[in-house]
Amino acid sequence: MNHPAPEQPAATVARLRETFRTGRTKPVEWRTAQLRRLRDLLTENGPELAAALHADLGKSSTEAHRTEIDFTVREIDHTLAHLADWLRPEPAPVPAHLGADAGAWTQYDPLGVVLVIAPWNYPAQLLLTPMIGALAAGNAVVAKPSELAPATSAVLARLLTAYLDTEAVAVVEGGVAETTALLAERFDHIFYTGNGTVGRIVMRAAAEHLTPVTLELGGKSPAFVDRGTDLDVVADRLVRGKFLNAGQTCVAPDYVLTDPATAAALEPALTRAVEALFGTDPAASPEYGRIVNERHFDRLTGLLGSGRVVVGGGSDRTAKYIAPTVLADVVPEAPVMREEIFGPILPIVTVPGLDEAIDFVNDRDKPLALYVFAESDATRSRFAAETSSGALGHGLPLAHLTVSDLPFGGVGESGTGSYHGRYSIETFSHRKAVLEKPLS
Ligand code: NAD
Repeated sequence: MNHPAPEQPAATVARLRETFRTGRTKPVEWRTAQLRRLRDLLTENGPELAAALHADLGKSSTEAHRTEIDFTVREIDHTLAHLADWLRPEPAPVPAHLGADAGAWTQYDPLGVVLVIAPWNYPAQLLLTPMIGALAAGNAVVAKPSELAPATSAVLARLLTAYLDTEAVAVVEGGVAETTALLAERFDHIFYTGNGTVGRIVMRAAAEHLTPVTLELGGKSPAFVDRGTDLDVVADRLVRGKFLNAGQTCVAPDYVLTDPATAAALEPALTRAVEALFGTDPAASPEYGRIVNERHFDRLTGLLGSGRVVVGGGSDRTAKYIAPTVLADVVPEAPVMREEIFGPILPIVTVPGLDEAIDFVNDRDKPLALYVFAESDATRSRFAAETSSGALGHGLPLAHLTVSDLPFGGVGESGTGSYHGRYSIETFSHRKAVLEKPLS
């Protein structure tokens, strides 16, 4: 980072650092007050936020509430209910050579000024949920919403500034130039959600200042379907998980992995499930979202030829609409299998059996989530023991991230670090070791 940063980000960071040094953000009362204000922001401006999410991504109001607004309110409530408990110093046993009067414990110290960089696909949830943890841990926060969800970015910039303590919280809107300028500054933690290419840029910039990072990345999350499972149940759950937000979900099942006979039976079940959820014309369903922009639309339609269309396949560029699509007879080398799909296309890839399915997963990058649909305990145990992924979901995609007491994060290419609930406190704090030996 040799070029001088533009004045604006430098001044913002300097101002927040000054605030942090006064100790203003440290009392638990300040932290809980900020969380309550954030809760008010969400509950008092639901319609406006939902309208922005609809403008950016065609999200229905129901979906906007369920996956962004209410989700974030729940995380705030969970944090408010447990914060005092999570922050309690933890005693450590003292070895005998230090004497019986010595004491030792750990305490959670806020890190300082943290940067949160959010993506466009859940532009409210993925900006605000890390902020909940950062504020609860007593930090000052610079929030950078995604420029690819401009309506949500504008609403959040205005509301966050109106509701939160602007001495300690700043919103910087913008794209690559603004983020690059921010990354030249020294932060005490950088929390980035998005793709791995930019993740590398973030990590390189952070290395200049020895700043720790959390990288919430993506990748191809497989869904293994065992033979002998109830395929109507499996198809319903796959379709709900895959086509939520038109497939633009980091933990969406990316592809189905199964044996040829199960694949053949799964095809009609998936067609029935798509029609049950979105009707025979999903373009007319108010519950079905749109692709974020033309660039992603063009990328996704380019993947539609990777297999035989079982259901869907249609698209409309003007409306940025791509039908919920299932592709069969997809070979591992097909374009749709070479990158994270991040859209409403579900390929089915076949393997002879369980051993090959496990090898297939292990031959690729460690996924953010791995889903297993299997009645057999032995099969489920084998995936648990023999594969590595950010999360393992048995029988239900996406649901693990709604459990506030589970860490949410990836491993390897799918990310580093985690958050949600008390894991956010771990991420945004330094756990300081303290030893005390009386002087007399
Ligand atoms: P995006 O394009 O909105 O980028 C994310 C952020 O990075 C934005 O704030 C953007 O301004 C910034 N950015 C973009 N280019 C930059 C650059 N050159 N230098 C500095 N900053 C830059 O979102 P995206 O990356 O397209 O998001 C999709 C990806 O994110 C997918 O891979 C998805 O799986 C992943 N994702 C992961 C999670 C998770 O929780 N693990 C959640 C959502 C999305």
